[in-house]
Amino acid sequence: MAPFIHFDQVTKSFGSLRVVDNLDLRVEKGEFLSLLGPSGSGKTTLLMMLAGFENPSQGSIRLDGTPIENMPSHRRNMGVVFQNYALFPHMTVAENVAFPLLMRGVGKAETVRQVTRALDMVRLGHLKERRPAQLSGGQQQRVALTRALVFEPTVVLMDEPLGALDKQLREHMQLELRDLHRKLGLTVIFVTHDQSEALTMSDRIALFNAGRIEQLDTPEGIYDRPRTRFVAEFIGETN
Ligand code: ADP
Repeated sequence: MAPFIHFDQVTKSFGSLRVVDNLDLRVEKGEFLSLLGPSGSGKTTLLMMLAGFENPSQGSIRLDGTPIENMPSHRRNMGVVFQNYALFPHMTVAENVAFPLLMRGVGKAETVRQVTRALDMVRLGHLKERRPAQLSGGQQQRVALTRALVFEPTVVLMDEPLGALDKQLREHMQLELRDLHRKLGLTVIFVTHDQSEALTMSDRIALFNAGRIEQLDTPEGIYDRPRTRFVAEFIGETN
């Protein structure tokens, strides 16, 4: 059976800089996969190509067997939570969450119904008339997450979504994310440079080094049986 997402010998260069180097990666449906590795190792670039914000220089990316290069972004049906992909400041929480539904042509009444349900699910219903500036960092992140999930995407791409949060909130959000992943049967690709976050959250981890995958394995495999010195040293470091 074809993998759900397949990066088939994908290379991405910016000028003479080869950021993703002839990479082959298969992601299963419903999997929580973390891309872990040092800053600059190509993790974000991989997500950008999957989301359609960048094109591969070589190779192809397939979603459910179909090359995505020519697929318009709404057909990719991916929810995106990037650190720099902030909420719309002039809109209320409810308007922010409604945005992707209205963009997809969902009617007003149905949008209100879905926004209410989604915000209630993450216990943000009481904040729906607020604007982002009136929320805490953690609440803003939960709204961003809700906005990425409200249209029931099959794939959710997250780039350091918990990076700006303090430790306690971060741990709480990690649990919440795992829970949502399970409940909604989502395929999640989650970028982090934090080893312990990747180890606790993932079904599998792809450990990146300079545009290549050094090891692709379960958290136990990465932790107990590092295949290279780089993996052992990266996992052994403390943040
Ligand atoms: P990571 O997410 O692992 O930190 P990135 O994918 O963001 O790594 O970046 C990998 C490398 O590609 C970095 O050296 C970065 O400066 C470079 N890079 C990323 N995007 C661009 C771009 N649009 N133009 C030029 N260089 C880029």
